[in-house]
Amino acid sequence: MSTTQLSAKSRGQYKTKAYSSGSSTSPLAPATIPRREPDDADVQIEILFCGICHSDLHRVRSEWDGTVYPCVPGHEIVGRVTKVGSAVTKFKPGDLAAVGCMVDSDRNCDDCQAGLEQFCPNVIYTYNSPDKHLGGVTYGGYSDSIVVKEDFVLHVPSKLNPAGAAPLLCAGITTYSPLRHWGVTKGKKVGVVGLGGLGHMAVKFAHALGAHVVVFTTSPNKKEDAVRLGADEVVVSHDTEEMKKHTGSFDFILDAVSAEHDINAYIQLLRRDGNITLVGAPPKPLAVSAFGLTYGRRSLSGSPIGGIAETQEMLDFCDKHNITADVEVIPIQKVNEAYERMLRSDVKYRFSIDMASLKSK
Ligand code: NAP
Ligand code: ZN
Repeated sequence: MSTTQLSAKSRGQYKTKAYSSGSSTSPLAPATIPRREPDDADVQIEILFCGICHSDLHRVRSEWDGTVYPCVPGHEIVGRVTKVGSAVTKFKPGDLAAVGCMVDSDRNCDDCQAGLEQFCPNVIYTYNSPDKHLGGVTYGGYSDSIVVKEDFVLHVPSKLNPAGAAPLLCAGITTYSPLRHWGVTKGKKVGVVGLGGLGHMAVKFAHALGAHVVVFTTSPNKKEDAVRLGADEVVVSHDTEEMKKHTGSFDFILDAVSAEHDINAYIQLLRRDGNITLVGAPPKPLAVSAFGLTYGRRSLSGSPIGGIAETQEMLDFCDKHNITADVEVIPIQKVNEAYERMLRSDVKYRFSIDMASLKSK
């Protein structure tokens, strides 16, 4: 056992309320989990809101490999700082703070040095990663409080509504980062596939960046909303004639679909040297036609979340442009129902859990 483990353990732990899942088939249910007492470099946060990401559902239901049970999901966390360690300089009790998908990394590798902690081979995710302080795995934001190293805590601009700001910590940064990386600006034609939690943030960001935004949706009833969110055009993807009209015209397409679908239909819509980036993470592999890529030298990429510095940049961009997620606020007791509704694309456009509801029972 390392000295860090010993010292953290000697500082002790406390218990906090949470919702956890015991197996891939059991619903989320009330639980009590341990948190470490804040160390010198730690910030303790009382969680006010936590967004529900489709990744939570993939993870809890073991649709991706490697879920460790009990599993406490949640990585779109906004809360109030309640305590800070003696070495903490950037936060004080009472501050509005946020935590996204990562709570630590090795800080030494090339990726960390470049401010790209999301690629660190030793990144510690907010849940379901080894917890070097308490043993077992890390537990996420469907809980009353969390203790995180200062370097992985974000400042939430005070103007932003906390319930709507929570989803920025995953849905926000996951879409902002590739839009920036692929140079989306005024004059570019940008497609967004899937108007869910991620997709609706992508529309807001691409619009704010000045792009011409086209939404592709399987849900005709989302057309009006897509325009309100910032889309210039909306295509119902089952309509092959409408799809054809856009052939060879996009600079960039962001695919935020959570399930199996035909990405070749979108690759064909890219112009020469255009790029389609997957942020959606369907459990099963997607089939890609080589011809769609070779013809037009098009490229297919993926992108995971974003680094800490870029996450803060995104929050500040949201402050400047007055952007938050469109949320339906729910008590934690409705979380299982919310998962079912998310599977039916029946959420406009992110569930945000009011964590005060956890205290009520
Ligand atoms: P979500 O809110 O459920 O949105 C997914 C959207 O995909 C739906 O609203 C729907 O949009 C569309 N869709 C669903 N099933 C479909 C199907 N069978 N065929 C075509 N379209 C379908 O999910 P989310 O939270 O935005 O997450 C989306 C995906 O991104 C998930 O797989 C999640 O795990 C992944 N993710 C990745 C990262 C990353 O770092 N890369 C981060 C967060 C999440 P329409 O109704 O408009 O068709
Ligand atoms: Zn997420």
